[in-house]
Formats: sequence, C-alpha cells, structure tokens
Amino acid sequence: MPHPDVLISEVGPRDGLQSVQATMPTADKLRWIDALHVAGVREIEVASFVPARLLPQMADAAEVVRHAVLLPGLTVMALVPNRKGAEAALAAGVHKLTMPVSASVAHSLANVRKTREEMVQEVRAIAALRRDIAPHVKLEAGISTAFGCTLQGEVPEDEVIRLAVQCVEAGADESGLSDTVGYANPAQVRRLFRRLRAELGDKAGAAHMHNTRGLGLANCLAAYEEGVRTFDASLGGLGGCPYAPGASGNVVTEDLVFMFEAMGVHTGIDIGRLIAARAPLMAGLPGEPVYGMTPEAGLPKGFIQGKAHA
Ligand code: ZN
Repeated sequence: MPHPDVLISEVGPRDGLQSVQATMPTADKLRWIDALHVAGVREIEVASFVPARLLPQMADAAEVVRHAVLLPGLTVMALVPNRKGAEAALAAGVHKLTMPVSASVAHSLANVRKTREEMVQEVRAIAALRRDIAPHVKLEAGISTAFGCTLQGEVPEDEVIRLAVQCVEAGADESGLSDTVGYANPAQVRRLFRRLRAELGDKAGAAHMHNTRGLGLANCLAAYEEGVRTFDASLGGLGGCPYAPGASGNVVTEDLVFMFEAMGVHTGIDIGRLIAARAPLMAGLPGEPVYGMTPEAGLPKGFIQGKAHA
C-alpha cells in the first residue's frame, strides 16, 4: 500500500467506549484493537486514565495499553486529565498522551472541575513530568468545545486560538481542535484551522469532529483543505450523543476512510478489513447501535482503493 497522505486516529476504544453505558470486556477490547491494527490503523486512543469509580468502562486502561504497545508500528495514545493519570499512563508504556482542555469556561468546570487557566498549568506539569521520565512520549492538547458548547453556547474564536497557543507554550507538542458537541460547520472549521496553523505551524494538531448534525465529513474535508492531516474518528461512530437520539457521535471511521480513498488520498487503511473490525466491536457491546453509511451501502461497483491518485 502506498505511503499514507493522512493519519486516521481511531478514538473508539476511548471516546466511544466512555460514552456508552455498557462496559466492554477487556478481551473484546483487545480483539477489537487487534482488528483495527490488522486493517492498517496506525494510531489508536486506547483508553482514558481516570479513576475507575468515575469511569468503570476504563478500569482496565493499563492492561489495554500493555497489550496495544505490542502491536508493531502502532502509536498507542491515552487520554489523561491530570498528572496522576499521566503517571499511570506513562507507567503502562503509552507512546502519546492527549489532554482535554476545554475552550468553554462552563464545560471546563463541568468536565474536569478546573478553570481553563488551571488546565494550562496541568499541561505544564505533565510536560515537565514527560520531560523528566519519558522524553520520547508525545503530548497533545485537544481543545474541546472549540466550535461551541451545549452549556455556554458560543465559544469566542479568539479564546480558542489563545488557549491552543498557551498549551503549546506550556509544553504540548501540538494542539488540535475538537467539536465535542457537534456544533461545527465547514466555514467555521476553515476559519479556525487556518488561524491555528498560522499561529502554530506544524504544532497545529488533529481535527476531532463529531457527526451529531450530519456535518462530520464536511467538516473533515474543510479541515483537510486547510492543510490538516490528522483526523480523529470512531469505528461505527461509537459514542452516540445522548442529547441527539439517533445521531452518531464521532465521525465514522469507515465513512471517513472511504471519502479519502475515493478521492485518492491514501489512509494506509484497508476498507474491507476496517469493516471487518466492526465484528469484535459489536460482539463486545451487544445491542449497542453502530453507525456508518459505507458499511451499510457497501463499496461502489468496481471501486479500487486509492485508484484516483495513481
Ligand atoms: Zn469525540
């Protein structure tokens, strides 16, 4: 397969699983992660290091990391909200830490019970910890509610960009933008990523888009056209938003890979094998709805992956 043009970062085992009620058994998680790796996925956010009493779905985070790091060529990422979580994630052997930093004042307090300024301090503390004990590990700040917030409504764009810059100044290797609640539109995505890239250059990070209002793919394409090359997505769109019944949460990995491959933009991911990776996901979460137009409709007649690029 040709060298990938974009990196599809699978977030289902973290973002997806922590949004559903049921807890997937560890053995199913490992089978699912293996199947994603077999399909060619090369970055997976496998877990969140938070207290098990808050998120029982993530109680096996260390075990999942210790398995995932055995898969060749895979970047194993974990979400850490604080220094304690970062210590546990580093001890388990992750390759990359991602921190959720809310641009919305209200969401930050509700989600991590810290102000935005306190979260920047947290980034600084974790960057120092990383430098001291695991300098090879990457640190990413994901600016959540960057396109709007269910609690606060509008989030001023200047504040989003300023926070992303502050996170990099505090020691993060990159800051990406997340549409946590599915409010973004393509014009806004273009504007914000253009500003982010102008401020941060190659330290501008991933686009994390949700499909709550059906604009997930359009928003990813807008980000791509602004030069973004890393995209978060979730297999089967796992993580449906509880406030929008019937709508998937994260952008569906299968549909995103199909869009790029049909355009001749190489993802390094085999769509057939990617769709096959839905089986262990569904086996581990019986009854949980999974989404995706491409898996339902099938590939177009005569479709050859990546052909348009040739
Ligand atoms: Zn998400």
